[in-house]
Order: sequence, then structure tokens, then C-alpha cells
Amino acid sequence: MNHQYIPQVVLDCICELGEGPVWVAENQQILWLDIKKGRIHSYNRDTKTHHSFSVGEMIGCIAQRSSGSFIAGLENGIAFIDIENNSVQHIINPEEGIGNRFNDGKCDAAGRFWTGTMSLQEEENKGNLYVMDADLSIKKKIENVTISNGLAWNADNSIMYYINTPTNYIFAFDYDIQTGNISNQRVVIDLTHEKGCADGMTIDEEGMLWIAFYGGWRVDRYDPSTGKLLQQILLPAENVTCCTFGGSGLDDLYITTATQGMNEQALKEQPDAGKLFVVEHIGVKGMLPQKFKS
Ligand code: CA
Repeated sequence: MNHQYIPQVVLDCICELGEGPVWVAENQQILWLDIKKGRIHSYNRDTKTHHSFSVGEMIGCIAQRSSGSFIAGLENGIAFIDIENNSVQHIINPEEGIGNRFNDGKCDAAGRFWTGTMSLQEEENKGNLYVMDADLSIKKKIENVTISNGLAWNADNSIMYYINTPTNYIFAFDYDIQTGNISNQRVVIDLTHEKGCADGMTIDEEGMLWIAFYGGWRVDRYDPSTGKLLQQILLPAENVTCCTFGGSGLDDLYITTATQGMNEQALKEQPDAGKLFVVEHIGVKGMLPQKFKS
């Protein structure tokens, strides 16, 4: 707990709702999203190359496909996205016409795409968590969630971690990597007395969870086997949304933040809010993001 982490601003690009960072190892790029602006950003810190493109609707999450390009959860369902050609190919929208959008999502080690939804008005219990298989069939796995967030799997794929943000609990499920079946839901970390709301999350090679706190100015590292806080990274922005490991050693932690809902005074006091941050060489490695097997 004594280590002082110094987050650096990666580049001067302010998102309304910065989110969903993904490390793309093949070209040493960090990808992240501005959900509200429907924009995908990518940056290579070696070449200092920044690209961004709008998908024309809100975008909640993105993951690589094993065949190249990307799969994403959008305002209007799940889609394939080709970043080279700026093209969006919608696949399916299981929630058409009910006022929801897709939010956080990730792939498991078998190449399934897990992504959940939330109400555009943030109405309670209107969202669901889905899984898409390589054959593009989709199944609802958890019902009645408010804001679906924070997926992570442990190294042997026996546990899936999940966040339904307003509960401020980190849930765990027994995970069957052969079938994608989840069972035995339990609370492993109780954050109900903490400042801010648990939002995005990633896991490191020691099985510890790094949790971003919206309205909480920080990322915390927790041990899910004991529920104990291990480390803390303080950010100069109140709305910390998500984090992921990247860098050539996979030991840099990238952290996204948001400006949405902040008044003029708060924006003035937090000039770096909405930017992408990095803490380099954090002392532990993450795990490479899994790809959609299609
Ligand atoms: Ca989120």
C-alpha cells in the first residue's frame, strides 16, 4: 500500500465517456472508446499515432476477432467493425426497441463474446448479460441487471467476475470454459461502503482485480479470495471508468476517465478529466485480452 503510483496523461484527447480500453499487441496500440460520442480511438505511444473514427451510434465495448478486425457491443446490438475501412456490419440486436444499449464486454478464453446491456435512461434492472458463440448464436445469461460491467476471468478459467455497477458488489461465478456455463453466484468483494461506484475491471497474472471507481477518483487493486484492498491508484479525475493492461511488457495499466455530468467548475478543476492515463511498469503483468473466435 506504500507504493505511490503516478498516472500520466497519454495524450490530449478528452472523451465524454472514455471507456473500454483494449491492448492490441500486434501493433502495440491501445484502443479505447468514447461511448457517448460513438467513437473508437487508437494510439501507438512509440509512433505517437492517434486515429479515431465514429461508428455512428453509441459503442459500449470492443474486442479483437481471431480473423482480424473487431466485434463490438453498440447502441443497436452487436456488430463486426473493420477499423481499417471504418465499416460497421450489424449482426444481431436482441434488445431492439426496448431503450437499452450495449455496455461493457469481453471475450473468454474459448473465444466467446460476453457483453451486457443497460437502459439508456439508467432504469433499474432493465439490462441483461449475453454471450455470443463463434457461430453468432446468442444466449441471455443474466437477467435484470442495471449497468452490466467489469467482466474478468481467472487464469484457469474456473471463475468469472462480474459487476452490476449500482450494487457495488464484485460477483464471482463458477465458470465452465467448455460450455460457457456460469453457476454458484456469490459476492467476493463488498464495496458498498466505498467512495464511488465499481465500473470497469481487469485482472492481473496474480489473480488480483483492478477496479475503476466512477465518482471515486481511483483504481483499486483487490484480492478476490479475501475481499481485501491491496493497492490504490489515485487519478486527477473523479469519474474513473475502466482499466486494462498493455505495453510491450504487459505491465502498464491504461485507465479511462469521463467528463459526462460534470459542471463547469468541476471541468475547470479537473482539466485532465476524460483523458486516457497510463501507469507504467506497475509491478505486475496483466493477461492479454482474448479474441472472438470467428
Ligand atoms: Ca463501464
